[in-house]
Amino acid sequence: RAPAPLLLAARHLQARYGGFTALDGVGLDVPAGRVTAVVGPNGAGKSTLFHCLAGTLRPVRGQVLFAGRDITRRPAHARTRLGVARTFQQLAVFPSLTVAENVRVGAEQGRRGGPEAVERALALFGLDGPVRARPAAGLPTGTLRRVELARACAGGPRVLLLDEPAAGLDTDEVSALARILRALAAEGTALLVVEHDLDLVAGLADVVHVMAAGRIVASGPPDRVLGSLEEAAW
Ligand code: ADP
Ligand code: MG
Repeated sequence: RAPAPLLLAARHLQARYGGFTALDGVGLDVPAGRVTAVVGPNGAGKSTLFHCLAGTLRPVRGQVLFAGRDITRRPAHARTRLGVARTFQQLAVFPSLTVAENVRVGAEQGRRGGPEAVERALALFGLDGPVRARPAAGLPTGTLRRVELARACAGGPRVLLLDEPAAGLDTDEVSALARILRALAAEGTALLVVEHDLDLVAGLADVVHVMAAGRIVASGPPDRVLGSLEEAAW
């Protein structure tokens, strides 16, 4: 395949929590129309990387680039407006709002999004039936994950940052998720996925980066990178 245009990039990112260095010189490309995955043990810094890319944590060094522009100092809401949408490892839906209202919030915060964008996102994630009118509180995890994804997609993102989107999903839900994510990439969206489910990563990612202790320690296509991981018994 032809090289894909670079949409989001991290350069030499260093992030700290107090005196603890959680990211230590991380660089990464997130091209349009591709699925880029980040794997690694708990505490490796994967969520911290997401926070720096989404703008919820300011790195102490390094840059975040969007379409070649330096956005390192732009706040999270401005990045969402540019088209950088995210989901959270800990689900972050509004419990008292209905499914459709939650998705509407995403459309309002995003790059573009009117009623049609909301309907499209609801339909994409199978939320356009009666469930659309239910309050988010009390819905099963699989449904809530779809609400979060639909909310992120409703704003017409150019980049989707997904932190453990398969957590708490059953096998059928994971397959359905993989199909949708592949379709989004095929439309040109740049996806960055942090995921524990290595089977999902193997079937989905174009490039995998392995993180450990705040650094990227291996990168490449999944067949190569994930194979050597199993040898390392992680
Ligand atoms: P991962 O997502 O790969 O599991 P994180 O990015 O959440 O890793 O965490 C990386 C490291 O930073 C861990 O050692 C974690 O304990 C630490 N850490 C994460 N968030 C905070 C925080 N808010 N305050 C202090 N340390 C944190
Ligand atoms: Mg994490």
